[in-house]
Amino acid sequence: MAFEALTFRSWRGTRQPFGSAPVVARRMRRATAAIGAFASSTLLLLAGLPAPVRAQPVSFEQHRSECAGKQGWSDPAPPIRIFGNVYDVGTCGIVVLLIVGPKGHVLIDGATAEAAAGIARNIERLGFRLADIKLLLSSHEHLDHAGGLAELQRRSGASLMVLPEARYAIESGLLAPDDPQFGLYPPFPPARVDALLRDNQTVSVGPLRLTAHSTFGHVRGSTSWTWRSCENRACRAMVYADSTTAAAAPGYRFSEHPDHVAHFRASLRKIARLRCDILITPHPAVSNLYARLAGEAPLVNKHACADYAAAAAANLDARLASEAQP
Ligand SMILES: [Zn+2]
Repeated sequence: MAFEALTFRSWRGTRQPFGSAPVVARRMRRATAAIGAFASSTLLLLAGLPAPVRAQPVSFEQHRSECAGKQGWSDPAPPIRIFGNVYDVGTCGIVVLLIVGPKGHVLIDGATAEAAAGIARNIERLGFRLADIKLLLSSHEHLDHAGGLAELQRRSGASLMVLPEARYAIESGLLAPDDPQFGLYPPFPPARVDALLRDNQTVSVGPLRLTAHSTFGHVRGSTSWTWRSCENRACRAMVYADSTTAAAAPGYRFSEHPDHVAHFRASLRKIARLRCDILITPHPAVSNLYARLAGEAPLVNKHACADYAAAAAANLDARLASEAQP
């Protein structure tokens, strides 16, 4: 990761009597390195670029113990690294992705309004500055993923980009009347939409490049994101696939909305075809994320997106079949 290449190493040598030649040489090297690091971070700050940091995510064991018995949307969780430059800075029950780069960072989702302050603290706890978040993105326009966007936008100053279908809900904090879950949830704080995305549009912050995929289904503005991340020498096709559940408010029948169902099915086919090494989902349990991070299941699985789409298609079929029952 470029950030880490910019940081300087600390030395840990064997103990030497004070003043011996190797110690003096080592101290001079340390002082030179420290001055160099200070100068380079000052130059980066002057250039408006993120200062190099060595991120300090907590271990998966600590994350698991702090989230034991908690899966709530707003239950505070510590920050963890998922892969390479990708961190989960969300809650015990909702993923919020921080993707860091040398020219600024991208944050996808904001969990709930109640979670926003904890997400901001997690980003700072990792050693990153909120002001270095340049782009704010979203999976979909429901309060458990978009509720914190307004506060995170206020604190970071980042630009928010969403698909046109998500705009109404994100800007009003209200679900659109054609949302299958319309009427189910209270309003969330409205955020400012700075620009609209197109399906398949690639957005970038410095070398970070993410592609938006409209995966209309769970809700109209559902957006899945793909990009590449590297850790050491391994580079992976990352997929943040949006929610695909056919969830609805009482009284809504998917079978009465054939266009919506057709879009839903096309989206599932699209997700199944994505290049997919590491699947992440806004609700972590749906992709078994924490167990995979703990090494209990493979983190990398090229079939994960196809499997995820197949499970969602079966869920949609079951929903339609239950609606057909008298
Ligand atoms: Zn939702």
